[in-house]
Amino acid sequence: LTNKKFHPEDSTITVGNVSIGPKTLTIMAGPCAVESADQVMETAMAVKKAGASMLRGGAYKPRTSPYSFQGLEETGLQYMKDAGEAADLRTICEVTSIHALEIAVKYVDMIQIGARNMQNFELLKEVGKTGIPVMLKRGLSATIDEWLNAAEYIVAEGNANVVLCERGIRTFEKATRNTLDLSAVPVLKAKTHLPVIVDPSHATGVRAYVAPLSKAAIAAGADGLMVEVHPCPECALSDGPQSLTFEDFNQLCDNLDPYAKLA
Ligand code: PEP
Ligand code: MN
Repeated sequence: LTNKKFHPEDSTITVGNVSIGPKTLTIMAGPCAVESADQVMETAMAVKKAGASMLRGGAYKPRTSPYSFQGLEETGLQYMKDAGEAADLRTICEVTSIHALEIAVKYVDMIQIGARNMQNFELLKEVGKTGIPVMLKRGLSATIDEWLNAAEYIVAEGNANVVLCERGIRTFEKATRNTLDLSAVPVLKAKTHLPVIVDPSHATGVRAYVAPLSKAAIAAGADGLMVEVHPCPECALSDGPQSLTFEDFNQLCDNLDPYAKLA
């Protein structure tokens, strides 16, 4: 169902009034984690003004350490909903369990399956049953084939609204948090009709590398970007070092050529 051989035309996934697909460049931006109503509202207003069409923010955080901030859960989802409505942005939030999924579908427009849950097949099947648009991130060490099979799990349940997100893979290189596999973009374009988003924030873990790789992703044919933005990166409860300030994000949006991928 995800194979381009049987579906040669590239798909466009709609999330409310936002389209993700070959004719647009969709920018999703927002904090790593929802930390407070003010933080997410302020960020929503800033990223909307800069040119984003979707607000990201985690309310269920899959943290490496159990002692790190785990997210505001349902309260955070409510803050996302309020900020999305106020700024006229569609919203996307990660779910880490079936329980979180059941709650999140009441608050957000799109569900994110994070890298750590890419092969959580029970979760994929449940997301498939909901029919809600879903962004499936690549697993930390997943091959493209494993990733496409994970997408197939969702589509096989009747939910064709799947977008893939390359967010870097584990390699021997330590200069960046992960290694952005930009070659995945043209490979996916050859293998599947599903839209492809690139997340240069989690791929690099370093603020200064987000802008150059955003441009590279578009040049490689990505249908959009997911970028972490925070009102005060040094105060962030998670992923501060890779989060852009409002000013950085503004500058990035000003320098992006949304038509580059169509050329
Ligand atoms: C995220 O986008 O909030 C996140 C945790 O990313 P990943 O699953 O790619 O690590
Ligand atoms: Mn993050």
